[in-house]
Amino acid sequence: MTTTASEPRVNNLSNQAEATKRVLLLKPRGFCAGVVRAVDIVKIALDTFGAPIYVRKEIVHNRYVVSDLAKKGAIFVNELDEVPSGARVIFSAHGVSPAVRAVAKERGLKVIDATCPLVTKVHVEAIKFAKQGYSLVLVGHREHEEVEGTQGEAPEVTQVVSTVEEVNNLVVPDPDKVAYLTQTTLSLDEARDMIEALKKKFPNIVGPHAQDICYATENRQTAVKNVAHGADLVLVVGSKNSSNSNRLVEVSQNLGTNSYLIDKAEDIQPQWLNDVDNVAVTAGASAPEVLVQEVIEYLQTKGFGSVDEVEVMPENVRFGLPPEIVQAIKPAPGAVTVGA
Ligand code: SF4
Repeated sequence: MTTTASEPRVNNLSNQAEATKRVLLLKPRGFCAGVVRAVDIVKIALDTFGAPIYVRKEIVHNRYVVSDLAKKGAIFVNELDEVPSGARVIFSAHGVSPAVRAVAKERGLKVIDATCPLVTKVHVEAIKFAKQGYSLVLVGHREHEEVEGTQGEAPEVTQVVSTVEEVNNLVVPDPDKVAYLTQTTLSLDEARDMIEALKKKFPNIVGPHAQDICYATENRQTAVKNVAHGADLVLVVGSKNSSNSNRLVEVSQNLGTNSYLIDKAEDIQPQWLNDVDNVAVTAGASAPEVLVQEVIEYLQTKGFGSVDEVEVMPENVRFGLPPEIVQAIKPAPGAVTVGA
């Protein structure tokens, strides 16, 4: 699903003749297939079953998306004990551990699972390696919900590492029987360094067939890498708790281009734009396009009259809805559809 970057395609969206300051609007940016699916699941559940619908944790890590769904009737909770017995609850795109699924079952909750299929893939790998007797090293940020969920598949044999130092300090029962997995939203460069350190420490370590970092994380980072050198500033639209958005800021900063994470246009500090002629704008995988457009409009009021959309690679990924939703919206047997 990852596409190799070729020569970027530039599409001029707005060009004021006198403009000397430019916006480079990166593509792909914003919503990934897992986020589109998760947000659709909540909306369809609200339409089909009616409010309230409970959602465990933020459905995706974006304040605007969460508050918009809350206005429509979704109730966000941190843990399942806040959900009334027998109620309908949605698991977020970041996934849950088997322990959480067990609590939902005990409480008689009607579960709709919005876990991204690419997160589920990592869970399946964790189960497979654990069954084969491997000690598991999960490269990721231990406070992130996705990591909690994946670790929960095999908690007795899984250790989470976030730094090369932690890799060097790892102790396992059998150094020849170690497998690694990664969080889906890591920095590609950081993950590469960590995996290299793991291979040095455990020469016989095994890993997934294809890397766990997802296509959307990779594509958005590749787009920043392609454009950051030609920009004076990179603005990343995304919330503070969005892992892949934070990684985009780091990618830019590591290339020497100043970068900030903003939830919305109002977060832009005017002094950031001092002596800036080219500002690149992108968005994390959970940030909606409406917020990106508000940022562009704000920049236009500050003299950035030319807007070039720079498409570094095409992206066209879609995921199907989970069976609980497909079943719920299926027409009743014998129902007649009117119209074309
Ligand atoms: S960022 Fe990647 S893993 Fe996370 S929801 Fe999007 S596609 Fe899935």
